[in-house]
Amino acid sequence: MTEFKLDFQDTATAFADKTDAELREKYRLFKMLNSPFLNAIGTRAATFALALGLPVEGLIKRTIFEQFCGGETIAECEPAVQKLGRSQIGAILDYAIEGRSTEQDFDNTKNEIIRTIERAKNDPNIPFSVFKVTGIAPLGTLEKISTKKKLDAKGQAKCERIHSRVNEICAAAHALDQPVFIDAEESWIQNAIDRLAGDMMQKYNRKKAIVYTTLQMYRTDRLQFLKDARREAHSAGYVFAVKLVRGAYMEKERERAEEMGYESPIHSDKKATDRDYNAALEYCIDHLADIAFVAGTHNERSTHLLAQMMHQRGLAHDHPQIFFSQLYGMGDNLSYVLAKNGYNVSKYVPYGPVGDAIPYLVRRAEENSSAAGQVSRELDLITTELERRRLA
Ligand SMILES: Cc1cc2nc3c(=O)[nH]c(=O)nc-3n(C[C@H](O)[C@H](O)[C@H](O)COP(=O)(O)OP(=O)(O)OC[C@H]3O[C@@H](n4cnc5c(N)ncnc54)[C@H](O)[C@@H]3O)c2cc1C
Repeated sequence: MTEFKLDFQDTATAFADKTDAELREKYRLFKMLNSPFLNAIGTRAATFALALGLPVEGLIKRTIFEQFCGGETIAECEPAVQKLGRSQIGAILDYAIEGRSTEQDFDNTKNEIIRTIERAKNDPNIPFSVFKVTGIAPLGTLEKISTKKKLDAKGQAKCERIHSRVNEICAAAHALDQPVFIDAEESWIQNAIDRLAGDMMQKYNRKKAIVYTTLQMYRTDRLQFLKDARREAHSAGYVFAVKLVRGAYMEKERERAEEMGYESPIHSDKKATDRDYNAALEYCIDHLADIAFVAGTHNERSTHLLAQMMHQRGLAHDHPQIFFSQLYGMGDNLSYVLAKNGYNVSKYVPYGPVGDAIPYLVRRAEENSSAAGQVSRELDLITTELERRRLA
């Protein structure tokens, strides 16, 4: 067996399309995000200032928003889509709107998601679309469905509208032959999302993977879930399509479990999450007969492991059922090096009104404020590149 190595420290490739000024700006921003103090102050102040209606949108837009989002509209994302495309990296237009609550809002969001699918059609630069069920459904109803609580007539009607919105999106994806991801969210609403995703896969994945569900491997029950769901899909005759992530709501999950006195559904340590994540990658690669999957991660080891397993099994780098994915503004060392080596790679490009993207931006800022977090890894890479360009 030939030795296998992908060099994710190749910062010249990772930042090839960044000018010196862009790189310096990225450095300044990540330096701020890397300071737990400034990070906490910054995210709180931004949320607070926006809530008060203070004119901070322009500042947010020029700084953190520009780093992690493509723009406020699909049209504004074009430069980001084209730039990524020039490096053979796909874009996934992610309408980052959260916390809306009226039926009208949900219909508007559903229509916007369908527009992202229409925009993606026939464009190799946009291989996937994506949505969050909470963008098109009331939280309370999702929670009730998840706990199998009996719904009254009003709840039943809301439930039917959720189903019909999700179905409209997936039907559009199917009709336009444009795969779509359904993101995973908090565990107390995830049963409802799992059921919707299962129904949609059964309906639209008969011939190929159109609807992808998401599994958060920080949950203790997800590896078994993956195996059961694959078997079910196999016997019912459809493709099980899945995006594997570690999970973005760890703190919230733990806090709620403690407050309400139930056992946390999250692994007790990072090692266990990593073990299950990597085991899930291996399970998927060993069941390609009825699985298509996406490794949604910035973790270098997991990314390298998947590429290595593909190599060991003699699979093509651009195997049509294996994809790598990162978020815009993060993990460029993985995305650009993978793309340069011919792997299928794409990045979420979140977009939407600045104020609405705040929960997404706060998650990005918070999940990484610790020393071991993604931001310090990014900062190291940017520093290496600044030094390589003799700018530091
Ligand atoms: C393309 C893409 C799509 C995504 N889609 C979703 C989605 O649909 N739903 C969603 O929830 N998230 C999603 N995420 C975010 C993802 O879940 C992670 O929060 C993020 O990617 C960081 O994990 P990592 O694998 O990149 O790397 P790492 O930095 O190696 O892992 C960090 C993650 O490990 C876990 N972890 C950290 N500490 C501990 C601990 N002490 N105990 C147990 N576990 C721990 C947490 O999940 C944490 O986020 C997505 C990410 C990407 C790149």
